[in-house]
Amino acid sequence: MQDNLSFSRRTFARAIGAGAILAAVPKLTLAKPQPSAAQVRLSANENPYGPSPAAMRAMTEALRAAPRYPDELDDELPIVIGNFHGFNANQVLLGDGSSDILRLAAAAFTGPGKKLITADPTFESIGMHAVNYGAEVVKVPLTASHAHDLAKMTGGALVYICNPNNPTATITPKGAVRSYIESLPSSTYVIVDEAYFHYATSPDYESVIPLVAAHPNLIVARTFSKVYAMAGIRAGYAVAQAATIEKLRKQQQWDQMNVIALAGAKASLADADHVLLARKRNSETKAWLANELQKSQYEMLPSEANFVMIDTRQNVKPLIAKLRAEGVHVGRLFPAMPNHLRVTIGTPEEMERFVGAFRKVV
Ligand code: PLP
Repeated sequence: MQDNLSFSRRTFARAIGAGAILAAVPKLTLAKPQPSAAQVRLSANENPYGPSPAAMRAMTEALRAAPRYPDELDDELPIVIGNFHGFNANQVLLGDGSSDILRLAAAAFTGPGKKLITADPTFESIGMHAVNYGAEVVKVPLTASHAHDLAKMTGGALVYICNPNNPTATITPKGAVRSYIESLPSSTYVIVDEAYFHYATSPDYESVIPLVAAHPNLIVARTFSKVYAMAGIRAGYAVAQAATIEKLRKQQQWDQMNVIALAGAKASLADADHVLLARKRNSETKAWLANELQKSQYEMLPSEANFVMIDTRQNVKPLIAKLRAEGVHVGRLFPAMPNHLRVTIGTPEEMERFVGAFRKVV
């Protein structure tokens, strides 16, 4: 097996020019301490290649603004994001990561006697916040094709749609999402989390940001943590109608984003090529992984994100621990899918480590 692995490593590196790709990664002058070289982190759906070089320069420069409150950049970024999406600045709310936006939605639109409707499994954070605010969380299982079962997601004060969905990496088709939003009563708010928007390539997928213009009850959450590789910096935003943005803003602290995050976000949005590069790296490495898994007779769900959900045909809890002992950190257990392992797409070298460890522990 070692020989096979070495062979596949060489073939893979040749096929996608992995050396060139790694050489292009900017040197981090202010790098956050990483897990030791022996550890591979495939647990948090991060982009391992780092932010755009332009964002790195902007963030480094922004340190000089450290003594001042971030007022000017705080005013400017909503204009930049608004222009980017074709909206006004008052239709944008900045967040300390999109986690901040999810919490604000739970604070503004749930509470005692109210229901949050989510899929199951899905990204859990908004449900945890809703519970803290005294609301009931109704979890609706995904359909057989791992889409949100929108016909059953009714009767809430707030609905959470994660598209592409974490942890399954699957999409809910654009037509279904569009007609669902159009059919919702105005008393129900819906937040569509598009954290993984940039990685989706299916023609059956689209962003719902354009629908905001017609729907006062629609909020779309975006993040700079995934394709823009700024998870450690913390930057995200919501797009919604101005009155809805104000309802969210009332729940928020002042100056929630720092100058470094603001400068990095602005520069990231201007670097479309870096997004394309991240998508290309992700899809090539994901295709390689799918092929390796197939060789070992393991299947993964169709992935429209920077992570995959592998059917291990056994409970993943012990597998997660065994992989960790091999130095490979993978996603947590999602109780609704106890045999599926969520694995982030890392660099080619990281995925080779994963495949080797996975074959060993299964
Ligand atoms: N939404 C989804 C679907 C996620 O998977 C994550 C993080 O993994 C987040 C939101 C939170 O991201 P952020 O870093 O923007 O707070």
